[in-house]
Amino acid sequence: MNIPWFIEVPLGIHTKVLAEQIGGTGETAIKALQIGGPSGGILPYSDFALDYETAASAGAIMGSGGLVVLGHNRCLVDLARHLVGFMAKESCGKCTVCRDGLAELENKLLSLTLGKAQDNILKEIKELSQVIQELSLCGLGRTAVNPVISTLHHFLKEYAAHVKGRCPAVSCKPLIDFEIILPCRMCRACYTVCPTGAVKMRAGKERILVDRKLCTKCWACYEVCPFHYIRITSEEYQWKDS
Ligand code: SF4
Ligand code: SF4
Ligand code: SF4
Repeated sequence: MNIPWFIEVPLGIHTKVLAEQIGGTGETAIKALQIGGPSGGILPYSDFALDYETAASAGAIMGSGGLVVLGHNRCLVDLARHLVGFMAKESCGKCTVCRDGLAELENKLLSLTLGKAQDNILKEIKELSQVIQELSLCGLGRTAVNPVISTLHHFLKEYAAHVKGRCPAVSCKPLIDFEIILPCRMCRACYTVCPTGAVKMRAGKERILVDRKLCTKCWACYEVCPFHYIRITSEEYQWKDS
């Protein structure tokens, strides 16, 4: 059961109570928690008290006090890119490291989600984040890199996979592929719904296939297949409903 409401809870409430008992999400479906709003931190899911001391010891902040529960299908590299981009727009522009540094950091993270990153990108991202954190004049710049620093620390494997062009969450569009697997029942629902003509009948019409050159990764075929015979992969990683 998911409850899509705002709730107010006391400081110090445990994450397990919030995410599982109140939020209604099963433990195994949860990969990470984003705490403290856009400039907070992203931490692996565990049970801990949500208070200032615990957040700080985990490399995060309480910030605005928000909590976002993230499933295994959420790409944390892409989430870090999104949050850094948001903070870059919030920068007042007074100091160079915040103004230009956050924009540059967003570009570097973007290159990972596009599968266009160079081998030394993780070192560059780490160093740039540290420079922004240390030299920014105010708290906005100093905390804006928290999503990057926390995910680099806790989810380094996810970054390393992106350097190799793979997205473990099977989420970054340029890094995923759709394919139809056997025993497809040839119901043609995917063929009918595909907006780009990427689902094609093979000669003789005994098999149906996805033409990767035409596929825009819109997920329509995946959602319509009544038998779950559309597989989404990022090389060795495979999409699983949680
Ligand atoms: S760190 Fe603060 S003062 Fe400097 S540009 Fe960013 S928002 Fe402005
Ligand atoms: S993901 Fe979208 S574009 Fe790609 S094959 Fe499926 S329906 Fe067609
Ligand atoms: S919707 Fe599923 S079962 Fe039907 S043709 Fe497509 S892959 Fe096969």
